Amino acid sequence: MSTPPFFGPDFGELGRTDPEIADVLLGELDRVRSGLQLIASENFASPAVFAAQGSVLSNKYAEGYPGNRYYGGCEVVDRAENLAVERAMSLFGAEHVNVQPHSGASANLAVYAAFAKPGDAVLAMSLPHGGHLTHGSKVSFSGRWFTPIPYHVRQDTELIDYDEVRDLALVHRPRIIVAGATAYPRLIDFAAFRSIADEVGAILWIDAAHFIGLVAGQAIPSPVPYADVVSATTHKVLRGPRGGMLMCRAEHARAVDKAVFPFSQGGPLMHTIAAKAVAFAEAGTDDYKRYASAVVSNAGALTSSLVENGMRAVSGGTDTHLALLDLRNTGVDGRTAEARCQAAGITLNKNAIPFDPAPPAVASGIRVGSAAVTTQGFDAADMAAVGSLVARAVRAELGTASGDREIAAVEGEVTELVSRNPAYARA
Ligand SMILES: *Cc1c(COP(=O)(O)O)cnc(C)c1O
Repeated sequence: MSTPPFFGPDFGELGRTDPEIADVLLGELDRVRSGLQLIASENFASPAVFAAQGSVLSNKYAEGYPGNRYYGGCEVVDRAENLAVERAMSLFGAEHVNVQPHSGASANLAVYAAFAKPGDAVLAMSLPHGGHLTHGSKVSFSGRWFTPIPYHVRQDTELIDYDEVRDLALVHRPRIIVAGATAYPRLIDFAAFRSIADEVGAILWIDAAHFIGLVAGQAIPSPVPYADVVSATTHKVLRGPRGGMLMCRAEHARAVDKAVFPFSQGGPLMHTIAAKAVAFAEAGTDDYKRYASAVVSNAGALTSSLVENGMRAVSGGTDTHLALLDLRNTGVDGRTAEARCQAAGITLNKNAIPFDPAPPAVASGIRVGSAAVTTQGFDAADMAAVGSLVARAVRAELGTASGDREIAAVEGEVTELVSRNPAYARA
């Protein structure tokens, strides 16, 4: 298990100059310390990451790339970016890395800019089946400026329908094929995607935003050898600062770099890039490998517990840090489940399940993730306890006397559980 981060905040100066915002920071610290954080995309970054993020590097303008900037005085921040790039290259075995994307969505915008022209067809996982907004949703640039061709999971297995992916690729000849999702609990067959992309001459883009942290810890296979380009975030399982990154084959290096700057971004966030370097170094340790493998086993333990408590695991389980649970057996919808859990101090999100009969705002499922609780030191026995607390909260009818009593009882047990392994324990 990884060492839980210790955090003794000293907001002394801020408390004097801006007590309102100091109170917000302390309030958020208190919120994450007092409840269970099961949002699959969240984590607890280390104090070292925060130290780099809250640093003087924030002030520096450094448009361009190390050794080739538009501004003077970049020789110090160049060292941060070079370290971040070198560490990521060695951690992931990538031929080229760009650490400047401000976020996962910004990294994805740069992928489109590097490889496609407006109107080009892009084959990507359907949003209601687990895809991301930037994979062709009409509310994002991706669905407005490009032509999304959605693929799906199979209804019987709830696994990606690779036959459909190939059939659609042969019919539509997409410029880009995207693999990677925001709510898919299973491993993705990168080799199958590679061979389909080769067959139709498409660029293979793996969006590893969610699972790159498991790859870093060698808990699941890497997409890097298969993909033309990999986009990722640094703040989900990877546990670094909020941000994005891109990895690609050497032949695409120039196109990718130009797509990030100057095409889609201005000055890089040098403080965040330094914090990414810190996170990459942390991810290279044995302690991190133990964490990554515990994230996967903990997600499995949590899923088993939820299944024992009457929920159905979409696709039958998980190979990663997250699981999707179909709640229809419990008679409770996703929206209601989310609200009841929140009342009990458990933060998770409602989620559509594949072929969901309920509208998205209601949804028939919930999504849970194990990264944050694993960072704070939870083991398999703790995860079993978490599963039964979630199941009890989901079934407790808020607003009735017995339901409210049950929610209060669950909340008490949540407090007890997190106090044994606190997030950001006081040093
Ligand atoms: C989280 C996520 C993103 C976007 O990352 P942001 O940092 O929130 O912009 C992109 N793609 C996938 C698959 C994601 O899960």
